[in-house]
Amino acid sequence: MFSKILIANRGEIALRVIRAARELGIKTVAVYSESDRNSLHTILADDKVCIGPGRASDSYLNIPNILGAAELTKADAIHPGYGFLAENPRFAEICESSGIVFIGPQPAMIKLMGNKSLARQEMRRAHLPVLPGSDEVVQDLADAKKIAKKMGYPVILKAAAGGGGKGMRTARTRAQLEEQFGLAQNEAKSAFNDPSLYIEKYLPNSRHIEIQIIGDKYGNVVALGERECSIQRKHQKVIEEAPSPFVDDRLRKKMIKATEDAARHIDYQSLGTFEFLVDENERFYFMEANTRIQVEHPVTEMVYSVDLVQEQVRIAAGEKLSIREGMEMRGHGLECRINAEDPTTFSPSPGTIDFMVLPGGQGIRVDSAAYQGWQIPPDYDSLVAKIIALAPTRPEAIRKMQTALEMTTIVGIKTNLPLHLAILADTDFAEGRYDTQFMERFQQKNNNNSQK
Ligand code: ADP
Repeated sequence: MFSKILIANRGEIALRVIRAARELGIKTVAVYSESDRNSLHTILADDKVCIGPGRASDSYLNIPNILGAAELTKADAIHPGYGFLAENPRFAEICESSGIVFIGPQPAMIKLMGNKSLARQEMRRAHLPVLPGSDEVVQDLADAKKIAKKMGYPVILKAAAGGGGKGMRTARTRAQLEEQFGLAQNEAKSAFNDPSLYIEKYLPNSRHIEIQIIGDKYGNVVALGERECSIQRKHQKVIEEAPSPFVDDRLRKKMIKATEDAARHIDYQSLGTFEFLVDENERFYFMEANTRIQVEHPVTEMVYSVDLVQEQVRIAAGEKLSIREGMEMRGHGLECRINAEDPTTFSPSPGTIDFMVLPGGQGIRVDSAAYQGWQIPPDYDSLVAKIIALAPTRPEAIRKMQTALEMTTIVGIKTNLPLHLAILADTDFAEGRYDTQFMERFQQKNNNNSQK
């Protein structure tokens, strides 16, 4: 087992890794930017090294400084968390060649899945259903129009190097495709420094449902049941739950089996997530695979009583998979992402937390790096806390979450707490009747109500 892990991240996920490492008896090193001097991960790790100014490109994305910190503190492994360098194959490669274990899959796997167009091709070879679309990156507008005509509108343009919902544009007609193509290309170029696009059939009224995969270095692979992530705003997840109200036992078994087979086909050797779109007829299509721990992993941990981060660390250290096949979910898990943002305009709201009471009690878990008096730096994402509820049934989990949120107080910054409470009180949500367009309809409905 490792003796010291450096965490190349910040915020709640850095804390999550510190916790897992400590429980395994492993020392931790925090790297921090100048704006994170007083952040909890910096305070709570065994060792800390400043790696540069606030701007992420100068600190949390600064590979030489992070590796320098690992060498200085004699860390034998690096956990990348999510975001920043978590899906950067070059970083994983450099770690390996410096004799430091990268806690994640093989660099070649990260590279393959990082190109969503290549990942689609590979998954098709692994017999996973993928949506109709371009086999490769589309070269130009004429190429895109030809493919769209063949498979029929609506279509969606996506950045091959995409992530975080950026560089994605839908087109319902040829004219719209003409309009959107250049815009999507520019967006992809500025966000990912790579203008490559691919095109896919757009699936209306579908759900985003993802499967957790865990593989070790000995060919053992296990997939766990789904996380439902259709409550999204601008393709960003807001609430996640497990199980999905839409997925029955038969569909779950089918999705688990297909994902396990595909992961085995590519010899997947770490934690990962396969994301699918599921249509009204329970047909599922591979969308992309994320080769890291996901923000929403706690809902899976709650319903399966497993520790995914500890498992990820053990596997990276060369241990065999300890999570058994065929486990069943127990109860219902819900996660609300509490962001420092204006609940109506959604613009970020950094600042100082003057007063804060976070919820607790049986079945409530809070993953957060926030504390009273902490000044949230403006340089990073706006996630303040993940509140997770576990109860025997979905209605009870909703009620538990409502109670938890009602007993949460955050003063000094604006948060989306009111938005979460409004979604939880919505009848369509309560009855599990929703898809990825839920938030658009919900906002429309609420705007109409406030105008009345
Ligand atoms: P990213 O990696 O940028 O998050 P994804 O490929 O995971 O992008 O897609 C994000 C979201 O966009 C999905 O959860 C879904 O809501 C929507 N989406 C993506 N592809 C399609 C599609 N072909 N049809 C309908 N919705 C889609």
